[in-house]
Amino acid sequence: MTAISKFWDDAVVPTLVDYIRIPAKSPHFDHEWARHGHIDAAVKLAAEWCKRHAAAGMKLEVVRLQNRTPVLFMEIPPNGNAGSRGNILIYGHLDKQPEMTGWREGLGPWTPVIEGGRLYGRGGADDGYAVFCALAALRSLQQDKRPHARVAILIECCEESGSYDLPAYLEALAPRIGTPDLVVGLDSGCGNYDQLWGTTSLRGLINGVLSVEVLTEGVHSGDASGVVAEGARVARQLLERIDDAATGVVKPAAFHAQIPLERSEQAKRAAEVLGEEIWRRFPFVKGMKPMTSDLADLVLNRTWRPMLAVTGAEGLPAPANAGNVLRPKTALVLSLRLPPTVRADSAARQLQAIVEADPPYGARVKFDYGQAATGCTPRRPRRGSPPRSTPARSRTTARARCGWARAAPSRSWRCSARAFRTPSS
Ligand SMILES: [Zn+2]
Repeated sequence: MTAISKFWDDAVVPTLVDYIRIPAKSPHFDHEWARHGHIDAAVKLAAEWCKRHAAAGMKLEVVRLQNRTPVLFMEIPPNGNAGSRGNILIYGHLDKQPEMTGWREGLGPWTPVIEGGRLYGRGGADDGYAVFCALAALRSLQQDKRPHARVAILIECCEESGSYDLPAYLEALAPRIGTPDLVVGLDSGCGNYDQLWGTTSLRGLINGVLSVEVLTEGVHSGDASGVVAEGARVARQLLERIDDAATGVVKPAAFHAQIPLERSEQAKRAAEVLGEEIWRRFPFVKGMKPMTSDLADLVLNRTWRPMLAVTGAEGLPAPANAGNVLRPKTALVLSLRLPPTVRADSAARQLQAIVEADPPYGARVKFDYGQAATGCTPRRPRRGSPPRSTPARSRTTARARCGWARAAPSRSWRCSARAFRTPSS
């Protein structure tokens, strides 16, 4: 571990610092990504680093299908004899989320800052680290003369847009990927750094804009309020159809799923292991408490229960510019997280029907959803049944449908501390 830490600090961190400077926003947030060239710059930076620090026998290629974001693809032959059978696919991505707001003074998305042992900036953890992490681990195995299986590393550049380019690459590269025995998706979180964790589910997501129009132009509020229903209040009424403002519980049954018994038990176990760290790791303001004191419920809330957030707004002036005007239009960006097994497309249609039905006072209400991504939870193979050997093509397509075709999901964790024990402990 010391050697990996040293390699990480010496060889990886300086390149991650360079990577943060590149505004390689995902195509969804930069429609002109091809002309801007930032995604290509990120891929070039990573590819050149990989060539400089190649694993033994590694083949590297930047694959480009027409009109799609590029993919960095590497193949590493098996190393050593015993235990070197098998085929592993490692996944990561180099495209980034947009700038967003709320950066602390001195920090920013494209301004790398190392402070207190942490590297701040956009994209280092999600998901720039992945390609460096994969290669650092393989190099370390090779230097320690430990065997490893054949490995393919696939780094895409469309993840934050819902990975719409990924299925085409999985199809095109299927003969070179083969049939993986293990897929390692280096794009998840974990409960802590003291145990080995496995991701057992990914939430789905509906993203859309709820707009409420009450007037064709703004009028004096002293004149109109009490006659014209205020747009934000109409929006509040519509939001109340989705979740309970007092509890945060999402009301429509269509957005809920039966939580599998196994997952409830895992949530309890994770809560026991992590304790209050489940909520303490978030930067709560002083005096603010989590939504419930039941720790297992907190785990399930962020993994298996639908939850609504308003992530953006339009039509509301900044406080300094707010006058006595009854505003014509209020638009809110809604982000509804869905349980892993709820079909996002039909849930999005239902959400639209729920908020657009019977608008208060006849206001003009619209819900436009740009993104509806279904989550994922793997089904456990039945005991004793041999692993299915389906062709690479159908398997990879299924994977693309399941979990990778989403943006910024949240994760549930299963503690597998036992798997981490060494024979001597
Ligand atoms: Zn990611």
